Amino acid sequence: MECMKAVVKYAHGKGKVELRDVTKPSPGPDEVLIEVKAAGICGSDLHILDGDIKLPIKPPVIMGHEFSGTIAEVGSSVTKWKIGVPFLVYLSCVEEEEGLAAEY
Ligand SMILES: [Zn+2]
Repeated sequence: MECMKAVVKYAHGKGKVELRDVTKPSPGPDEVLIEVKAAGICGSDLHILDGDIKLPIKPPVIMGHEFSGTIAEVGSSVTKWKIGVPFLVYLSCVEEEEGLAAEY
């Protein structure tokens, strides 16, 4: 089992965030795994840190939903994407918006 570093909100309430070793995920058949090179800090991350986020979160959760990196692994059914392709991911933290992922 391979591990990676992640900033984890491990419980509800103010603070309760720490850098942890977590199990590196494996992509499902139609998924890709992104190796994160940089992550932004969103206002939602600050609300999660302060423990007053309005969206339902279920700790433990890995923080950082706006990030960029490269495709590190592809699932068995993935044909459109290749390892090494640079990628940008924005997962909306506003209910009315949809997130997006794009090659850049
Ligand atoms: Zn956000």
